[in-house]
Amino acid sequence: MDTLVLSSAYQPMAQISWQRAISMWVAGRVEIVEEYEDRFVATVNKVFKMPAVIRFVGTVLKRYHKGKNPKFSRSNVFLRDRGRCQYCSKVLNKSTFTLDHVLPASKGGKRSWENIVSSCPPCNQRKRNRTPAEAGMRLIKQPSAPSVLPIFFDTYQFPNKWKNYIPNKIR
Ligand SMILES: [Zn+2]
Repeated sequence: MDTLVLSSAYQPMAQISWQRAISMWVAGRVEIVEEYEDRFVATVNKVFKMPAVIRFVGTVLKRYHKGKNPKFSRSNVFLRDRGRCQYCSKVLNKSTFTLDHVLPASKGGKRSWENIVSSCPPCNQRKRNRTPAEAGMRLIKQPSAPSVLPIFFDTYQFPNKWKNYIPNKIR
């Protein structure tokens, strides 16, 4: 599950893994605003609810904003591609979509922003171990490293617990 991060003024800023949310909370940088009622995290001597929404406290906000380009990860590729298959532009499910190597790994293709795109399982299967040209498929956009990532987009399925913190136009 992901955790929504709010600024101290309750503006949505990012979504991160719940593990990272917990470590920010343990470090005292954020407070927990909403919890998932049915998800639990167990530590050696404590069980608590998984954070759904957290909010920055104090003045750590600037440090969070600084930093380099977004990290390459499955969920960040999903955000960069705005949740759409980069071959057929179908809306993807965040848990079942696949990462496609544009130049297949078997041909030396790397796992990087420039060579990985979001793909629906059928397109991924159709392409197999081929380049898009060999498979007769076309990318809707050439992949590249993003400088910023969208927090949400029109088709994004977010948890109910986030609803009150997301601007109307996206809801
Ligand atoms: Zn597709």
